[in-house]
Amino acid sequence: MATTLQLYHVSEIPSFFHELYIHRGYRHPRSSVRSCLRSCFYLHNETVNFWTHFIPAVFYLFVLVTDCYQYNLLLDAYGLPMLAYLISMTLFPTASALAHLFNTISEKARHMCFFLDYFALSIFGIGTAIAYHAYSFPVALISTWWQHLYLLVAVVNALLSFVLSCRTRFLDHGLRKKMFRILSFAVPYLFDVLPVCYRAIHGDVVDFSLGGMHYHVRQSVFAFLSALIYSSHLPERLSPGRFDIIGQSHQLFHVVSVMGTHDLMTGMRMDMLQRRQLMDAHQPSYSILLMVAVVGFNLVILYYFWMQLDGVILKSTSSEDLTKLNNLCNGAGLTNGKSGHHLIDRQLTNDVSRRSKLRPHVE
Ligand SMILES: [Zn+2]
Repeated sequence: MATTLQLYHVSEIPSFFHELYIHRGYRHPRSSVRSCLRSCFYLHNETVNFWTHFIPAVFYLFVLVTDCYQYNLLLDAYGLPMLAYLISMTLFPTASALAHLFNTISEKARHMCFFLDYFALSIFGIGTAIAYHAYSFPVALISTWWQHLYLLVAVVNALLSFVLSCRTRFLDHGLRKKMFRILSFAVPYLFDVLPVCYRAIHGDVVDFSLGGMHYHVRQSVFAFLSALIYSSHLPERLSPGRFDIIGQSHQLFHVVSVMGTHDLMTGMRMDMLQRRQLMDAHQPSYSILLMVAVVGFNLVILYYFWMQLDGVILKSTSSEDLTKLNNLCNGAGLTNGKSGHHLIDRQLTNDVSRRSKLRPHVE
């Protein structure tokens, strides 16, 4: 495995590791765990992506611990949905930061890193739905079939979201891949926020006077902005290569989405504290178990996609990619066998060279 601090141009890197409109600052595609850890402390095209989610992850962990003590979340049944929400809120930036840090270990590791990132987002989706259900439902819909069905649909959404987002990693780069990736996150989000949309549009005076409605509204603006930034690839689309290290859309997407999550957390906490009299009698005892069930099902889905990886990588690796990988590994003093690492699979090399037409695979 490479431990070099050298950075590479997109033309030197196998297509597997390419990012749209990002030209410079790539790390070695066979980085060791140690060199990935060291890469936190120097600038490359993922450094800011790492820190913009790692710092919020540490902050959310702090919030999780302090809220547990301050609001007695562990011992009060009414606080358990908040606990589930705060755990899911801490998990998603943690998984994302780790994915951005370790995705250059290998092609397979890159897929697994982002599978785990989507896993955490799916858990965040159900965590958010559990908290909305417990604290934010509009007065008119409490104890209706809407509230009874809400969590069940949210579970299905969380699972489908994980399947679809993982599946998009196997698609060729293009509009279809982008569309499905955005849909996989947008559909569960749009469903989850329905209770607060209802409060904003049809809610009575109680819906507005109690809780954190203005935080919920501002959160939805941040969510819309983050989807726009993520899908547009602005500003690097306008000037490819200029925003490689600082200012690229993914970094802005991280910052805006964290601002939205912070508003969501604040609004949720205010709902929990101020709407207790309304909501306390309508807490189902099974809501936390639903999150555990989603974790279980997601592990099965993760295993399924993990089993597909070798075949997908084989199909999508071109002979040009293998040449680049060979050059990089030889340049870093790495060879098959000698180092004890299986850097470039010989079977893969033979198989790829037998195929004449290969579709390039771009992340
Ligand atoms: Zn990210």
